[in-house]
Parts: sequence; structure tokens; C-alpha cells
Amino acid sequence: MSVIKSVIDKVKQTDPGQNEFHQAVTEVLESLEPTTKRHPEFVKNGIYERIVEPERAIIFRVPWVDDKNRVVVNRGFRVQFNNAIGPFKGGIRFHASVNLSIIKFLGFEQIFKNSLTTLPMGGGKGGSDFDPKGKSDCEIMRFCQAFMRELFRHIGPETDVPAGDIGVGAREIGYMYGYYKKLKNEHTGVLTGKALEYGGSLIRPEATGYGTVYFAAEMLATRGIDFKNKCVAVSGSGNVAQFAIEKVNQMGGKVISVCDSNATVIDEKGIDSDKCCYIMELKNVNRGRISEYADKYKTVCFEGKNVWDVIREQGIKVDIALPCATQNEIDADNATALAKNGCICVAEGANMPSTPEAVKIFQDNNILYGPGKAANAGGVATSGLEMSQNSMKMSWTREEVDNRLLIIMKSIHNSCLNAAEAYGRKGDYVTGANIAGFVKIAKAMLAYGVV
Ligand code: NDP
Repeated sequence: MSVIKSVIDKVKQTDPGQNEFHQAVTEVLESLEPTTKRHPEFVKNGIYERIVEPERAIIFRVPWVDDKNRVVVNRGFRVQFNNAIGPFKGGIRFHASVNLSIIKFLGFEQIFKNSLTTLPMGGGKGGSDFDPKGKSDCEIMRFCQAFMRELFRHIGPETDVPAGDIGVGAREIGYMYGYYKKLKNEHTGVLTGKALEYGGSLIRPEATGYGTVYFAAEMLATRGIDFKNKCVAVSGSGNVAQFAIEKVNQMGGKVISVCDSNATVIDEKGIDSDKCCYIMELKNVNRGRISEYADKYKTVCFEGKNVWDVIREQGIKVDIALPCATQNEIDADNATALAKNGCICVAEGANMPSTPEAVKIFQDNNILYGPGKAANAGGVATSGLEMSQNSMKMSWTREEVDNRLLIIMKSIHNSCLNAAEAYGRKGDYVTGANIAGFVKIAKAMLAYGVV
């Protein structure tokens, strides 16, 4: 039995029920098969067995008091997956669906993503099953403080540097950073995604969405195509979606969709910059639902459906798909419909938004497919730039950070293509991203001996 198969089998046996984690491990390890032949030293030194096991996984109680003076208990997680090339680094997710499997899948993906950025960052992820929807500002603050009351002892600017993710934006980072500072009595770059006033980086809020579009533009350029006049489907309406829409507009494309966890809006006229500003205000300030967009702009709204189901059911033709909501949002039927209707490019702003079956359909139909760990790496890359600025105690201009982001996205794109070609899978961004990310980590792990 190949080492790859035996490691996958062992993960499934050791961690039963962790479906998202199994999915991520299977996807990455299967594409690493060629590395076992080219690097027998990785096999001999148990690198594949070691890389699927987190350095440590911390699970903790988060008790807090709601506005009605009731005690509520949530569960907190921080999975410190791999710090071979730098401190653990990865976001914190607050969403009712969060469990150990989801945090492990995200942390595992983060290892390779962070490696691809060329910056010295290891992989980790954290979060809680706390649902921020409908909570008051005070409740959010009390929860964030309760979460940090335990997390603070496990993180640090040279140890583990969390950031935002679903449900964790500037407001939550502010509350968590404020409490960390209080507990530790120090002002350090322990979190990224901070506001500018206390150590944040320009372009960090924009970085994941912008970076995804930069990556898509690079993929399109390999076929002599650009965003001009292209019809683009975006899912989600949070941080990544908002700035993906902004950048597509700047590049001359037309975005026709957004969603949240309750509904999908289709706007055939296009979500222009004014409408995009409205979404930012609606979601970031008023904490409203996306159906309010449909009321305001008199567009169609599909309750209880995600973007990809609507596109399939309504037979809508899009040139480019940018899934920016959550994992496994595009299934095989949705992928088939996208392919049938002429979609030429899929770049993942979200983490693992396409099921394995959907990915296969994209690749079989010669669709340019950029997996999340490459396409959305601009967010963590800019977090890396925030860490550098914090260490140097200085800040770069907007242009400087944006330019660095663009250079990093181009470099990730080239690394994927080069690794894919070097391992006999020309044009396969999945294999390219996994191998390019993995080899660097594996070599570092090898250098350390068995630790
Ligand atoms: P946000 O919380 O800002 O936005 C998430 C959006 O997706 C919201 O509109 C949310 O709707 C929607 N959503 C969440 N779950 C579902 C669901 N089950 N069905 C339909 N819509 C859903 O998160 P981000 O924009 O930061 O993150 C989006 C994705 O991008 C995630 O996969 C994240 O891991 C990934 N990512 C984020 C990075 C970042 O820098 N923020 C970096 C790299 C990847 P609602 O408003 O109803 O909650």
C-alpha cells in the first residue's frame, strides 16, 4: 500500500466523523503522491504521517453572560497545526457550525497556503461555535473577552498569531486585541486584521478579495483573457466577497450575484461600486440581511438558496465564478451547470468551497480552477505584511502594500504552475499549489529531525 493511502486511512480511522478534515487531507495527500517518489527521504522520515497530526489542539470552555443576564457556554478551539517555517498563523471563525473537524481542515489547509505566500508563517486556525447573528454589540464584546480569557495563554507574536475569518472582522479583532493587551500588559503584533489606529495594515481588509481577483486575472492571462465585460458570479457578502466585487468592478467585469446564509440576490444589471458600498454598510455597520439589497434595488431574491443552486436552477450563464462564502458550497450538479453554461474560470475566495466532485468536473472541462489555498492566500500574505510592519514599528502606504500583494499573488500563481509542470501535471493548479506548499515545509521538518 502506498504511504499516501495508508496515511489517509489512518487519519479516517483515528479521527472518525471529522469529514471536512478527511476531505482536506485526502485532497492534499493524493496530489502529493509524486513527491513520495522524488523525495524518498520524506517517506523514510515519516513526513506524511507527521504533517497530518497537529502540533497541538486546544479545546476550551467559553462562558459569558448575555444581555438577559443568562450564562451561556460556548466551545472554543485553537488548532496549532504546524510551525516548521514560522509561528502558527491562521484566522478565528465564529459560526454556529464550528467544530473540531472544521477547525482542523482549515488549519491543515493553512499550512500549505502560508508556505505558498513565501512568508515565514506556520499554519493554525481557531474559532468557536458562537453565532454572532442577532447579538448586541455588548454581547459580542463579552463573548470576545471570554474567548480571549483562555486563548491569550496559548498565543504570542512569536508563537501563534490569529486573525479574522467568518464572523470575525474588525470589531471582533478590536475586542479580542483590547482584552489580550489588558491581560498581558503588552502591545504587540499578536493578532492581525487590527484597525489602523493600533497597528493594522492598510489593504489588510481588502487583501483576500483583491488577491483572489488578482489570482484569477493571472489565470485568465494564461489564455489571453481578462476581466473586461465578463459576467462574474460572487457568493457571500462578507469581507472576502465585498472586496472581490470592488476589484472586479475596477477591472471592468460585472458582478451579478451575492448571498448570505439566508438568501441569494441576482442583479443582472451588475453590482456597481455604489451598490457595493451599500452592501458594505448593510453588512459591516447595520448587520442586516442581504434580502434588504433586493428590496432596495428591486432585484430578484431567492430565500434559502445559495448562489450556485440559483445559477443552476435559473440557467444563468456566467464567465467567472468566485465562491467567497463557505466550504462545500459548490457541488457536482452546480459545477456541471457552470461548465455547461460556459464558465471559463473558478477562483476560490473561500476555503474549500468546491466539493471534490465539483473540482474534478472543473478540471475535466478545462476550466481554469484556482483552489482556495492559492487563490485566497492574499489575506494571510497581507497579515504577514502586517506582522512585518509591527515588528519594524512602522507602516507602509496603501500603494506599497497593494503592490506587494499583487507581487505575492503573481508569485503564488507562478509557483503553482512551475510545480505542476515539474511534477508532470501542467496547468493543474491543485497539484501545483499542494506540492509547492508542501515541499518547503517538508524540507524544514526534515532539517529539524524527529520533533
Ligand atoms: P464573513 O463572515 O465576513 O462573510 C461570510 C459570508 O458568507 C457572509 O455573507 C455569510 O452570510 C456567508 N455565509 C456563511 N456561511 C454560509 C452558508 N452556509 N451559506 C451561505 N452563505 C454563508 O467571512 P469572510 O468573508 O471573512 O470569509 C468567507 C470565506 O473566505 C470563508 O471560507 C473564509 O474561511 C475564507 N477566507 C477568509 C479570509 C479573510 O481574510 N477574511 C482569508 C482567506 C479565506 P451571513 O451574513 O448570513 O453570515
